[in-house]
Amino acid sequence: MSYVHIFGPVASRRLGRSLGVDLVPHKVCSFDCVYCEVGRTTQKTTSRQEFFPPEEVEDELFTFLSSRPDLDFITFSGSGEPTLSLSIGRVIRFIKGTFPGYRVAVLTNGSLLGDSDVQEALHPADVVLPTLSTVDEEVFQKIHRPAIGISVRGIIEGLCRFRETYQGEIWLEVFLVPGINTGDDDLRALKQEIGRIRPDRVQLNTLDRPGPEPWVRAAGTDELQRAARILGIKEEEAFPPIRYGETHGSPHEDARSLVVEAIRRRPATLEDLVAQTGLHRQEVIKLLRVLSSDPHLKTSREERGTFYSWSGD
Ligand code: SF4
Repeated sequence: MSYVHIFGPVASRRLGRSLGVDLVPHKVCSFDCVYCEVGRTTQKTTSRQEFFPPEEVEDELFTFLSSRPDLDFITFSGSGEPTLSLSIGRVIRFIKGTFPGYRVAVLTNGSLLGDSDVQEALHPADVVLPTLSTVDEEVFQKIHRPAIGISVRGIIEGLCRFRETYQGEIWLEVFLVPGINTGDDDLRALKQEIGRIRPDRVQLNTLDRPGPEPWVRAAGTDELQRAARILGIKEEEAFPPIRYGETHGSPHEDARSLVVEAIRRRPATLEDLVAQTGLHRQEVIKLLRVLSSDPHLKTSREERGTFYSWSGD
């Protein structure tokens, strides 16, 4: 079976070995973040829709999970904002009802968490990971370029309301854009609001792959440490190292399409590809060498290494 709505498992910094579920078409999102690793938003909206028949997603999950793969999480994420999907509650309930041993996580920009329907849809999830990177409206608009009508104040109030009813864990992400939201006063004000939201964890993030805006750079170790100190979070919790985990190292009959699919979704380094595909390192090296003559393959050198991406068919 070829999969359209699920991808991975990928090695996630915060969630370990994670199977991705994508319920939203490419770059349909309520934000257009300056750091988005999947590119510019093509449809900016806050309107919730059923983008795909939920049965299609459930069929793929059923087939994939029937072999009981080893996963830390099944994660609703992908290339847009997952809570825009009207099917998210149904698909979460399907996983919890059919494969109760798996933990479910939802990565969200938090813009719709004040909506009672979204709150109810997410209740069976084990962990919700919203983003809150500033409490300053101007800075918020600059970093996230949200759809009309979204304000950071509204998001904070939505997060507080969600906390009141949600029994699972909230792991709040603070995305650092050096020079924009990393000032001491900004971080102190953010800490105060985080105190009201009462997340179970606060984690820092910064640019890890080439983003859509060349002026956005990654925060360095010193900047991450300083932000963690001001926000009052332990360093090892603030920025967990990526866990590549065990790879199977087994030959895959369609290794080329595994690699192409992975880099079509988002840029990846060699290490990312080994972790995501489970292929042997040498096999990935060989494939990248073969693919290097294809004009669709693009490379860019970043701090974390060479990133490979795929554009077009
Ligand atoms: S919310 Fe996520 S998917 Fe949407 S633009 Fe920002 S980083 Fe990209």
